[in-house]
Amino acid sequence: MLIELIGFANAQDLRVVAVKFQGDIKGNLVSNVIGLSTKLTDAQAAQALAHEIAHRYLHHDKENTIDSPNHDEYEEQAKRCSKMLLDFLKFMKGR
Ligand SMILES: [Zn+2]
Repeated sequence: MLIELIGFANAQDLRVVAVKFQGDIKGNLVSNVIGLSTKLTDAQAAQALAHEIAHRYLHHDKENTIDSPNHDEYEEQAKRCSKMLLDFLKFMKGR
């Protein structure tokens, strides 16, 4: 699923790069670049990438979501949206 998600991200003008983050950060989105931690397995990277793609769709016009008072709400939205994206990919693979 990671390959499909990277292809999808690229098609949305998002670049995906591997990053050696400090601590346990799994991924981030800065402008048009999604960083994924080098510590992740492919399955974890797919989850993190789906999450950052979700942020891109949902919160591209919200500026800094991390320091926002709505941070928890934004995270919940990204979680739900990324689950939908991953469920859809699993569904398509099973057909
Ligand atoms: Zn997030």
